[in-house]
Amino acid sequence: MTEFDRRQFLGLGAAATAAGLTTGCASGSGASVVPDLVVVNGNVLTQDDDNPTAEAFAIRDERFVAVGSNADVRNLASANTTVIDAAGATVVPGFIDAHSHPSGAGLNELRNVNTNLGSIARIQAALRERAADTPPGEWIVGFMYDDTKQEEGRPLNREDLDAVSTEHPIVVGHRGGHTGVYNSRAFEVSGITRETSDPFGGHFYRDENGEFTGKVAERARGYFQVPSGSTPEERARGVGVICRKMNASGLTSVHQAGTSRADYVAYQDARAAGDLTLRMNLMARGGTFPALHSAGIRTGFGDEWLRIGPVKYAADGSASERTMAMSTPYAGRPDDYGILTMTQDEIHEVVEEAHRGGWQVAIHANGDVTIDMVLNAYERMQREYPRDDTRHRLEHCSLVNPDLLRRIADGGYIPAPFYTYAHYHGEKWIEYGEEKMEWMFAHGSFVEYGIPVAPASDHSPGPYEPLMALQSMVTRKDFSGRVWGPSQRVTLDQALKICTTHGAYASHEEGVKGSITAGKLGDFVILAESPYDVDPDRIKEIAIVRTVVGGRTVYEA
Ligand SMILES: [Zn+2]
Repeated sequence: MTEFDRRQFLGLGAAATAAGLTTGCASGSGASVVPDLVVVNGNVLTQDDDNPTAEAFAIRDERFVAVGSNADVRNLASANTTVIDAAGATVVPGFIDAHSHPSGAGLNELRNVNTNLGSIARIQAALRERAADTPPGEWIVGFMYDDTKQEEGRPLNREDLDAVSTEHPIVVGHRGGHTGVYNSRAFEVSGITRETSDPFGGHFYRDENGEFTGKVAERARGYFQVPSGSTPEERARGVGVICRKMNASGLTSVHQAGTSRADYVAYQDARAAGDLTLRMNLMARGGTFPALHSAGIRTGFGDEWLRIGPVKYAADGSASERTMAMSTPYAGRPDDYGILTMTQDEIHEVVEEAHRGGWQVAIHANGDVTIDMVLNAYERMQREYPRDDTRHRLEHCSLVNPDLLRRIADGGYIPAPFYTYAHYHGEKWIEYGEEKMEWMFAHGSFVEYGIPVAPASDHSPGPYEPLMALQSMVTRKDFSGRVWGPSQRVTLDQALKICTTHGAYASHEEGVKGSITAGKLGDFVILAESPYDVDPDRIKEIAIVRTVVGGRTVYEA
């Protein structure tokens, strides 16, 4: 490629493009467009179809301004430019997670005990350590527990927690968010006795003698007076904590699937404190939507750091906790078709209000029954009040069939299925069975139908690490090596697009992010190895070398 000096290069425009170098703002004077940062010697997988690979790129004022060869990009640098030598490492656009719950996860990390430890003994040790620093009588709260993942081969129970402490009430919450395990002290201080009966929509699990096992589901958890109050300062710090953790996995943009008033405040506070290092698309909850809507705010309001996303509702149960609403029953439970949490009329009503108000709509719909009901509402709106390019979303959209796929493709709707579940939650898929798993988390089918399927972790229920997501979507292999739904595999090319450009498309932001393209936001990740060079079964082990958001390094190994 021809070498240009900086002044020539900046005046070139068409010639530079012809030479393979793409630039953003080629019109400014030389002095004003010296890049802040250049990256050279990279194996840059841009995810931009017009310019799929490059060696180098430059960033100024938070945006890519040039993408091309080492020689051309080096020529742009001045003494004030930071130069990163990627030394041949692979560089990809910043990863996007289009469905996650980071603010709650961050607050948990800040205040509570992470029990994602894989054994009851280790959970007990972690809780004991916390108990030693906690005055008797105060609650100890664990989070990220998973009933099917303990080395002991059984779930945690009340006695396990009594062995930790009888002086502290203890609760260990399931990462799925629907159940918890409590110790005897917790039952006692909350006034729950053997005689206490189950509330509507909740359950105290008991053994054959009627004694509590400690496991408590859904609304029965409301009987325990776990102090939930957190201060605005803590919530803002929690945002900072989760930003750092997610940045370390290569994430640069996240869609928060349901944002409360306290969350909106926390994100703004974190930003003011300089701690916001993820670009957030904040879906409004049913509860915050009316105020935003009546103030005339709609999807897209905000800027490239904090942006109002769609309004979010939930119409059925969970995939990982095995309660989603399906047209056929769960394996081994012939009468169990899962749970709907909204009626068709309710779905019609909320969709109509938001659609006519100019909002994007996102509805949690896991099972095929629920997806059909949500599509009914989206299709009705398009008939009665047509709007261009709504990109209404189907959160999770776990179980599909050819009819649903065709309708999703025809309407231009966006499914956001779990991207790490096939790998991470393998032991749970037996309850759906082989046949259903060929139609679940159906990344392969979505790609086949030309649907821009979005990347989604649903953290905390699912791991958010994008490299695990690539591995899961490409191999469909769980951690024990069992393959689930091999027909839904995608290629690595497709998986990378899902985690980058499709994530941008899901929030109408494909013009500003998702690829390393001149003019877009300068968000990128340097990987220690190329995912194309390693065994697909170890993509998740590739180290993240550096994560950069808007030209600023937010994580460095
Ligand atoms: Zn969710």
